[in-house]
Amino acid sequence: AAKRSGGNAFEFFEASMNQTAFERLVLEGELREAVRDDQLVVFYQPKISIKDGSIAGVEALVRWNHPTAGLLSPGTFIQAAEECGLIGEIGDWVMRRACTEIADLNRRGYELPVAVNVSAVQFEDEGFADAVLDTLRETGLPASLLELELTESVAMRQPERVLEQIEPLRQRGVGFAIDDFGTGHSSLSYLTRMPFDVFKIDQSFVRDMSKDPHARIVVETILAMAKALKLQTVAEGVETSEQLAFLREQGATLAQGYLFARPMPLADLVRYADDDQSRTRLASA
Ligand code: C2E
Ligand code: MG
Ligand code: MG
Ligand code: MG
Repeated sequence: AAKRSGGNAFEFFEASMNQTAFERLVLEGELREAVRDDQLVVFYQPKISIKDGSIAGVEALVRWNHPTAGLLSPGTFIQAAEECGLIGEIGDWVMRRACTEIADLNRRGYELPVAVNVSAVQFEDEGFADAVLDTLRETGLPASLLELELTESVAMRQPERVLEQIEPLRQRGVGFAIDDFGTGHSSLSYLTRMPFDVFKIDQSFVRDMSKDPHARIVVETILAMAKALKLQTVAEGVETSEQLAFLREQGATLAQGYLFARPMPLADLVRYADDDQSRTRLASA
């Protein structure tokens, strides 16, 4: 136990606790309430086929509908959730909600694959693969409509464990994507051996492409590698038609970004998908 040099434990605690730590405690308390009181929501952002402009799928992105602060983006709370042990619960909740909603759309005739982000903490839980399979069974979502997004660092952490979790899911048809590709420090030879289906090029490279030749080289290299490995590529954060033109020229298969659509609630997604279908029908008429 910590040795007290006079004063009481409370004084010691208070003195050493800065504003940030205090804010963190408040945040964690509120986050527990958020999970319990159903304040989380899932938004969906379309991924667009660069070839024909149709929707190829969506990414599920969690939001926190905070009672006083309004809609909060995951950047403000995911890390806290990981550190205070709430990410498992939040991750399970997002997975279940996304699978339920997309399975429902599927029963209404929409064939939209959904990609769900998985954090390292979730993936390291031994029961992860079984929990995902349970969720698929219970929600009725075909496994082929689910993709899991892992960052490079998760994929690299414990290769054998990662393969153990991935294998049973892949056998059922669940897809795997490496998120934020290019920002980690992966060994290329190692990465090419992992059973991934999709590389998602980090948005920082897409953003800097036009002014930074190095960013352009990274994008070109990832695309060339994906092509050789016969993998799909998603370019994240596509905001301009110039970026899209370059990506098309370099052979990227999918694009995701504000140029097409922002992450949106399910009801808006349904409207977006309906417009998309009529666009596609018109194009093929
Ligand atoms: P990510 O998985 O790389 O998701 C892409 C992020 O880029 C999203 O931010 C999306 O809103 C944003 N984005 C999309 N298009 C554009 C664009 O054209 N320009 C710009 N500037 N940004 C764009 P978001 O929704 O704030 O999520 C941030 C990160 O939080 C995600 O990055 C992901 O790592 C994490 N995250 C989101 N939902 C979950 C979740 O359910 N579980 C876990 N573990 N992490 C999540
Ligand atoms: Mg992602
Ligand atoms: Mg990403
Ligand atoms: Mg990112």
